[in-house]
Amino acid sequence: MNEIKCIEVSNTNCFLLKCKEGYLLIDTGYPNKYKQFIKKLKKLEIDISEIKYILLTHHHYDHTGLACILLKDTRAKLIVHQKAIPLLKKGITEKGKEFNLTIKLIFWVLSLFNDFTYPPVIIREEDYIIKDDDFDLLKEIGIDGVILYTPGHSKDSISVLLSDGKAFVGDVAMDFITTPYPIIIDDINEVYNSWDKLIEYGAKTIYPAHGNPFDAGILISSRRGGIKNDF
Ligand SMILES: [Zn+2]
Ligand SMILES: [Zn+2]
Repeated sequence: MNEIKCIEVSNTNCFLLKCKEGYLLIDTGYPNKYKQFIKKLKKLEIDISEIKYILLTHHHYDHTGLACILLKDTRAKLIVHQKAIPLLKKGITEKGKEFNLTIKLIFWVLSLFNDFTYPPVIIREEDYIIKDDDFDLLKEIGIDGVILYTPGHSKDSISVLLSDGKAFVGDVAMDFITTPYPIIIDDINEVYNSWDKLIEYGAKTIYPAHGNPFDAGILISSRRGGIKNDF
């Protein structure tokens, strides 16, 4: 059983899973929050050199912000979906569709102060590029789980699903304002397909990047209840 360690970088949960030689870090949090990250890592009594792999659930700046500096400092190997690569190289966040008018307004205000960029991340030979679901990589590095391709929030979203049903889903489900829907949606049908896939493969508890863990059953009941927006 993998003990879940979490570092909250501002409002992004970055998870640490024990692997063979150290830790797999899922997401890195916002740019310019390096000190906060290191401070919280120390509190967990983990040395930065113990991070051996960094998996980015998708290319958005609140997940990739510290990837560039952490890859340098840790010499960790990167795990990303292939569709993230062109965006990571440029250090940009692709604009998605806001869930509703409230979210649209929030992002409009945010955009006055923020361009949603981050230090570019260049893929190296030793990194792992995920093309679809991957059932082997995590096992090879000593984690009893799989990587699932779970688009819908963004085209490059991937999730980590452990054999005990814990699912680290990035932003394809959230416990934040529009729970469990993502506040930004690339394709709502893909969101539903990804939720179905997670449940089909055994997800029991959703660990979102924003907010607290919740029962995967909420993904079914929310969907059944319908969605009050204009998708
Ligand atoms: Zn996102
Ligand atoms: Zn996010």
